[in-house]
Amino acid sequence: MNSEEFRKAAHSAVDEIIDYFDTIQDRRVVSSVEPGYLRKLLPSGPPAEGETWGTIQKDIEAKIMPGLTHWQSPNFMAFFPANATYPSILGELYSAAFTAPAFNWLCSPAVTELETVVLDWLAHILHLPDRFLSEGEGGGVIQGSASEAIVTVMVAARERYLNQACEGLEGQEREEMRNDTRGRLIALGSEESHSSTAKAALIAGVRYESISTRMEDHLALTGEGLRIALDECAGQDLQPFYLTTTLGTTGTCATDNFYEIAEILRKANMSTRIWVHVDAAYAGAALILDEYGHIAKHFAAFDSFNVNMHKWLLTNFDASCLYVCTRAHLTSALSITPSYLRNRFSDSGLVTDYRDWQIPLGRRFRALKIWFVLRTYGVNGLKAHVRKHIFMGDKFAAWVRERDDLWEIVTPPAFALTVITIAPPAQSKVALPNGMTNPRVNEGSGTSNILPSASKKDRVRTNTLTKDVYERINSAGEVFLTSSVVKGIYAIRVVSANEKADEAHLRRAFDILVDTAEMAISESEA
Ligand code: PLP
Repeated sequence: MNSEEFRKAAHSAVDEIIDYFDTIQDRRVVSSVEPGYLRKLLPSGPPAEGETWGTIQKDIEAKIMPGLTHWQSPNFMAFFPANATYPSILGELYSAAFTAPAFNWLCSPAVTELETVVLDWLAHILHLPDRFLSEGEGGGVIQGSASEAIVTVMVAARERYLNQACEGLEGQEREEMRNDTRGRLIALGSEESHSSTAKAALIAGVRYESISTRMEDHLALTGEGLRIALDECAGQDLQPFYLTTTLGTTGTCATDNFYEIAEILRKANMSTRIWVHVDAAYAGAALILDEYGHIAKHFAAFDSFNVNMHKWLLTNFDASCLYVCTRAHLTSALSITPSYLRNRFSDSGLVTDYRDWQIPLGRRFRALKIWFVLRTYGVNGLKAHVRKHIFMGDKFAAWVRERDDLWEIVTPPAFALTVITIAPPAQSKVALPNGMTNPRVNEGSGTSNILPSASKKDRVRTNTLTKDVYERINSAGEVFLTSSVVKGIYAIRVVSANEKADEAHLRRAFDILVDTAEMAISESEA
């Protein structure tokens, strides 16, 4: 493809992308193809002679579109969003053009320096404590995913712990102590932590234990939960070195009790031994709002934090921003410098080589799209986007409460996510005990299927019905939702945080939920 052909092809591709976005809501949101559909549509091998862009482009609509689930559709209310926007697409375009696996500063100084600057900007607007800024001992780095960020910090935590344990020892003695300690290391998370923490432990070669959470605490990890877990570890001669805490868990958007966790670690004299990571992959975006930003002050007691801009901050995949308060812990754990990577700038110690802050060597120019997004929307534009969805989520929860004959909210609505289950039949509703702390339960009809006292029969019936409703809705394909099992309760998660989603889309989803539930209930009673 020569320059002129590229110019024409790129214009045509951009036109098609714009048309796609403009009409996306008319498409069925979930793909309905059967496994293996694509192989049947493609030839058995690549063409011997090159094809024109016109021929290739036609296959986007004919062959690829049917197999796409449209994450950018305003009717996509599943998982968490993965926003793509025009400025971030432009960032990707330039990044592809400038392709340079910029592992060292020298590989392309702008790639490194822009990353440091935009991550400091982001830290400021997220209200992160100054410890996470590059001006001090900390700093941010863009990773491909929250999972990668967690593996990276877990390895740094392991090395920090082992170095502390072996302090003052040398040679054989040090090696023996290191091996002995390593065999007793344990990483902790909560039952609600994303599975990436368990996977990170697998990769880092350490044990993993998840700490129980309770409905009464809205599924948050509490100080007491952590204290019990630490006691149990001590009883088994295990050495906890790492803990994932979460702002906005995947299942229900629960927020761990950061204050209590920091206090327990401080009292146990473990603040500098257990590396605490804050996984704010989705809900971290809300920290840009003044009404949520205060939460970040607790992170001053912790070691690292990540937020995926590619979820809720209008930046397309991938852009997971990881911050550490002591970058030396990352670089001393991950820096290996064969001679071909040495250069006078790296040796001078005056530049950042992001290869030492991550697992891979090469890296993409992801800072560009973040820069474009921050400048195009401005801080106020990003705030308006996040605030709009939190407001819409609260509206959705209010509609659910109005239909408490049909639906019940499982955990407090948070960060635009509402988790619901079919309400128990009226004749078997139970009164709430005094002192029930779940605000959703208290605000509701005064009856509930989510209490431990709910009858087993009701639970089985409502779980079956909720699953049935969920499956009917997703196979109809007008809106796309995800389900979850919360302490034995089958639940449907509804989250609308897509740039193109308005209240009307959410209302339509609610009406579909109501109509489908009514149909499923009446059929089950027939
Ligand atoms: N942490 C949380 C709280 C998540 O919700 C998710 C995914 O949704 C992840 C981690 C994993 O994200 P990634 O795909 O970036 O690894």
